[in-house]
Amino acid sequence: RGSGGCAASGREGAPMSDAANGVAVRFEQVTKRYGATEVLSEISLDVRRGSTTCIIGPSGSGKSTLLRCTNLLARPDEGRVLIDGVDITGPGTDVDAMRARVGMVFQHFHLFSHLDVMDNVTLALRRVRRMAREEAEARAVAQLRAVGLEGLERRRPAELSGGQQQRVAIARALAMEPAVMLFDEATSALDPELVKGILNVMRDLALSGMTMLVVTHEMRFAREVAGEVVFMDRGRIVETGAPDRLFDHPGTARLQQFLDQVL
Ligand code: ADP
Ligand code: MG
Repeated sequence: RGSGGCAASGREGAPMSDAANGVAVRFEQVTKRYGATEVLSEISLDVRRGSTTCIIGPSGSGKSTLLRCTNLLARPDEGRVLIDGVDITGPGTDVDAMRARVGMVFQHFHLFSHLDVMDNVTLALRRVRRMAREEAEARAVAQLRAVGLEGLERRRPAELSGGQQQRVAIARALAMEPAVMLFDEATSALDPELVKGILNVMRDLALSGMTMLVVTHEMRFAREVAGEVVFMDRGRIVETGAPDRLFDHPGTARLQQFLDQVL
């Protein structure tokens, strides 16, 4: 099955050293194909614990696929992904347990439309974590308060603004106490006046020390919040670096071109 076999053998000591040296997410030579098309080519990247890495790049460059490989919504064909030193791409991975440690927020919220806000936030706590209703609801109330949704517990997603729905999605992910949060264009589907509120929630989360991997077109957010920015094009990492360096002194014509289009 895919990457498992060769990846699991050898490499003694890697898990211990990752956990010890503060690498929360490590991509090692990750390659992903759909049919004959290679959409990720030998991606290697470390995300340090407590840091925010922003991924930028043109449409179709593989940004979403890379995030999806981080929680096995997509499986790498080659290479490995390690979370806190544990190879999640190896055989025998407990996918539910792993997903509980990796929170994901999508462009289109992906809430359960038939459940109210409270049930959206508590569902995984109760089903995956086997938490009692009372404890799960207490935790949900605290998370909902933290994202500014106090008092909306009994609303259905359709009765909320896009910004409120995205806050529910963020609260739902955070309630699981993930080691890492993934954001895939979390503000791209929002009305312009709602974007800033969500970016503020994300910035506060980054400042609180959460490890975050953020695909975004919000260059100002990337410049202000990211420790590292990764520029992808056609399935490859073209450049990485501190935001000021990347935005002010792009090292490649491809990045310069991309920035000319979006800035
Ligand atoms: P981005 O998020 O940067 O826009 P994606 O990771 O969504 O890029 O897609 C990268 C490439 O992989 C695109 O060419 C896309 O069409 C293709 N792709 C993504 N998911 C699938 C899939 N499930 N099946 C086939 N092709 C896919
Ligand atoms: Mg995408």
